[in-house]
Amino acid sequence: MGRTVVVLGGGISGLAASYHLSRAPCPPKVVLVEGSERLGGWIRSVRGPGDAIFELGPRGIRPAGALGARTLLLVSELGLDSEVLPVRGDHPAAQNRFLYVGGALHALPSGLRGLFRPSPPFSKPLFWAGLKELTTPRGKDPDETVHSFAQRRLGPEVASLAMDSLCRGVFAGNSRELSIRSCFPSLFQAEQTHRSVLLGLLLGAGRGPQVDSALIRRARAERWSQWSLRGGLETLPQALNTHLTSRGVRVLRGQPVCGLSLQAEGHWKVSLGDSSLEADHVVSAVPASVLSRLLPAQAAPLAHALSTIPAVSVAVVNLQYRGARLPVQGFGHLVPSSEDPGVLGIVYDSVAFPEQDGSPPGLRVTVMLGGSWLQTLEARGSVLSQELFRQQAQHAAATQLGLKEPPSHCLVHLHKNCIPQYTLGHWQKLEAATQFLASRRLPLTLAGASYEGVAVNDCIESGRQAAARVLGSEPNG
Ligand SMILES: Cc1cc2nc3c(=O)[nH]c(=O)nc-3n(C[C@H](O)[C@H](O)[C@H](O)COP(=O)(O)OP(=O)(O)OC[C@H]3O[C@@H](n4cnc5c(N)ncnc54)[C@H](O)[C@@H]3O)c2cc1C
Repeated sequence: MGRTVVVLGGGISGLAASYHLSRAPCPPKVVLVEGSERLGGWIRSVRGPGDAIFELGPRGIRPAGALGARTLLLVSELGLDSEVLPVRGDHPAAQNRFLYVGGALHALPSGLRGLFRPSPPFSKPLFWAGLKELTTPRGKDPDETVHSFAQRRLGPEVASLAMDSLCRGVFAGNSRELSIRSCFPSLFQAEQTHRSVLLGLLLGAGRGPQVDSALIRRARAERWSQWSLRGGLETLPQALNTHLTSRGVRVLRGQPVCGLSLQAEGHWKVSLGDSSLEADHVVSAVPASVLSRLLPAQAAPLAHALSTIPAVSVAVVNLQYRGARLPVQGFGHLVPSSEDPGVLGIVYDSVAFPEQDGSPPGLRVTVMLGGSWLQTLEARGSVLSQELFRQQAQHAAATQLGLKEPPSHCLVHLHKNCIPQYTLGHWQKLEAATQFLASRRLPLTLAGASYEGVAVNDCIESGRQAAARVLGSEPNG
């Protein structure tokens, strides 16, 4: 049919959009343009000594829910079933998560019985927070910070320890700034629909149509909490790239888009430095702040809305130790901001995925650094050396996990502006963008972590939905 769709950004969102466009019964011509030499965006896996795998970005994908199932379906369609490393429901990495508070690790209660037991660092059994939740009236505001929502419904301790840590773990963000409506839409909706988050989650669980496959059934039967791929998660973007090329998608790397202009006939001209591309439709899967700088003057209101979606940086420090043992077995621990402004948490990679420990095996952990500590350093223009992050991470591993010997291997990466922040009122920015696109009938569709979910599953879904809109099977927005 001769239509050309240009997809901006070869992270997982842009790859997923291209994948679904290329599989349409009558596919348009698809060109995927990536600014760097590598596809995958923040998904990056590197090999270390003895072939150990070190994830510099995401390290586990959740199989739960409709989006988790769709990602597993994609994995099967790409022929990666045999590469999947699951964390089964009875595994310590599925059952145990910890908070580091008051200089000690505390296991978060699991199961119904855990709710009735004293569970430090909380002063009372969490049953009492649940009782408060069930009896608290529905909030009236169209949005609220995560902290305020949690404090109102579950009490100050759950807000300042559990939800504060969760926001740091998922968004590297501040629960006092992040929006409950946009960061945890299921909690917000549960309150709106059922007046109680607990009731809403209980009554709403398992709803909605789901895709099905042998891998999805296996994940459900074995109650996987998350999964990775044998060679690291970067195997997924690599397999997508191979698939796209085989389907005739043109994949350009090392070609940063430097501008978009609207031609008289309603086409786009996509500028790539020395050359340009013509497009009937553009799917943007670059961060909102990047797109805001690429848009032409006619789209200034859209550019403004996008420019107000901020992002924060995270320093990821991968450490490997020879002959060391962890004091506890679990997925990892989170650290509330009141305990340490800079250490977001530590992931015990070797517990969840020992298959990636290399030969001879060495204990792998990843320290995530960020929060107000890093923001202050960035705002001051301080020198952010690898040595600073290495020291900070080793100190955290020594004090929080007792890993006092120097690591045998260490990787330090500062990911600048890697996690978008859905701050209070984020939904209004999305509404403004959607309305502008619809009213001007611009042939532009937005996808990616900047909008409706930062998890890999959310990003893949955003790409799928963008493709569906372009192909006309769903309304644009
Ligand atoms: C440290 C870290 C840990 C994480 N852990 C997890 C986890 O365990 N589980 C999970 O589900 N999620 C996790 N996430 C979140 C998830 O990995 C990301 O949200 C997701 O990978 C973002 O994908 P994306 O395609 O939307 O964006 P990106 O990965 O940012 O991709 C955007 C792409 O656009 C390209 N680009 C930028 N500007 C231009 C331009 N001008 N022209 C052309 N191309 C351009 C970039 O080079 C990049 O490749 C983590 C994220 C980080 C940073």
